[in-house]
Amino acid sequence: MPLQRTDWDAIIIGGGPAGSTAARYAAEGGAEVLVIDGRDPIGSPLQCGELVPSNDEMRRLCPDVPDIDDLLRTSEHAISLRTTEMHLVPPSGKSLRYPFEGLVLNRVAHDEDLVKLALSSGAEYLVGTRVAEIDSNTVTLADGSQFTAKVIIGAGGHNDPLRKSHWDVDSLNIPVKFVLMDGVFSDALELHFGSVAPGGYAWAFPKQGGANIGLGIQRRLAKGKSLNRYSEEFFSRYEGKISFRGAGSLPMSGTIPRFVKENHLLVGDAAGMVLPSNGAGITIAMIGGRIAGQVVAEHLSVKTPLEEYEARWNIQMGKVMRNSKFAFKLGTLMFRSPDWFLNLMFNRLTKPFIWRAVTCKSLFSLR
Ligand SMILES: Cc1cc2nc3c(=O)[nH]c(=O)nc-3n(C[C@H](O)[C@H](O)[C@H](O)COP(=O)(O)OP(=O)(O)OC[C@H]3O[C@@H](n4cnc5c(N)ncnc54)[C@H](O)[C@@H]3O)c2cc1C
Repeated sequence: MPLQRTDWDAIIIGGGPAGSTAARYAAEGGAEVLVIDGRDPIGSPLQCGELVPSNDEMRRLCPDVPDIDDLLRTSEHAISLRTTEMHLVPPSGKSLRYPFEGLVLNRVAHDEDLVKLALSSGAEYLVGTRVAEIDSNTVTLADGSQFTAKVIIGAGGHNDPLRKSHWDVDSLNIPVKFVLMDGVFSDALELHFGSVAPGGYAWAFPKQGGANIGLGIQRRLAKGKSLNRYSEEFFSRYEGKISFRGAGSLPMSGTIPRFVKENHLLVGDAAGMVLPSNGAGITIAMIGGRIAGQVVAEHLSVKTPLEEYEARWNIQMGKVMRNSKFAFKLGTLMFRSPDWFLNLMFNRLTKPFIWRAVTCKSLFSLR
């Protein structure tokens, strides 16, 4: 149904985890919010490895983020499988094993739930129509129709149109391919490193009746071999029937320096909110989305400066993101080494340090 009104408090471009969460909290705070998304339905087709940490694990990973249970309300029907162990696998196959509470999602259902939450808070959605241009307070859609808002949030992922037109900053985007495979798999989450996925990693995450298996590389380290070849070689290690193939891109250089410019904000992948040392983006986009939504609502009601969004992000996630960026840089250096060296590096002595790097803890302090 076409929308009757064109003027809004806030327009959010993209209704993924970042955009729908920002919409939910901005609407809860009293703002009149329109979310515009090019997809219909939002969340389809799947582009994800579908792993998120449990809420308890999130409290350990991101100790400065408040009210995790209010933010992350994953419903049972959006969970395919609960896991308790993660294996970090070097080229030798001799994995380091760690306890890790993970939820392997039905990501499409998960994102649909986030839309429902935002709708129930009062946000409105316009789907199946892409934003073509943003100019100050005006958003122009591909069909030429226009909407205006006091605040515009870019939550359109790594190709966000607001980021592309108004921010002059590059991110390292890692191309990724993945499949859903039917079959019987180990109960543990697997992350593989080394020449199997130069500069990136490969994953196998068990699901109910199958697994989500994927791989991302840094092209400059791939020695001319295509992502397709790397991924097909990795998929062929597993036995099962491929029921779905997908691809995408992950921003892996961490957050960009500024998320706010005048009345424009970026959130989620658009702002680089993926932890580069482990590829976690869903829950991190939601942390950013909550802060952005709350600050926009306060800005509209009591004139809180929009820059407060950056300040609160830094309090809640600054340390975790800094540690993760550092670990990724270290990892990129390490993963350039030949496989025999990596095999030596994965040992009982380095085991706790490798885990601290993957889980974004400082390598040199005990916290
Ligand atoms: C293959 C792959 C595997 C991944 N695996 C994991 C994983 O296992 N765990 C994890 O935590 N993270 C994973 N991620 C990262 C995670 O998916 C992202 O970090 C997360 O989706 C970011 O949410 P977002 O809302 O910022 O962006 P998105 O989820 O990308 O949502 C952006 C939305 O904006 C819309 N949009 C874009 N441009 C426009 C436009 N011009 N007009 C209108 N709408 C627009 C899109 O249609 C989309 O719905 C993976 C990513 C990829 C690509």
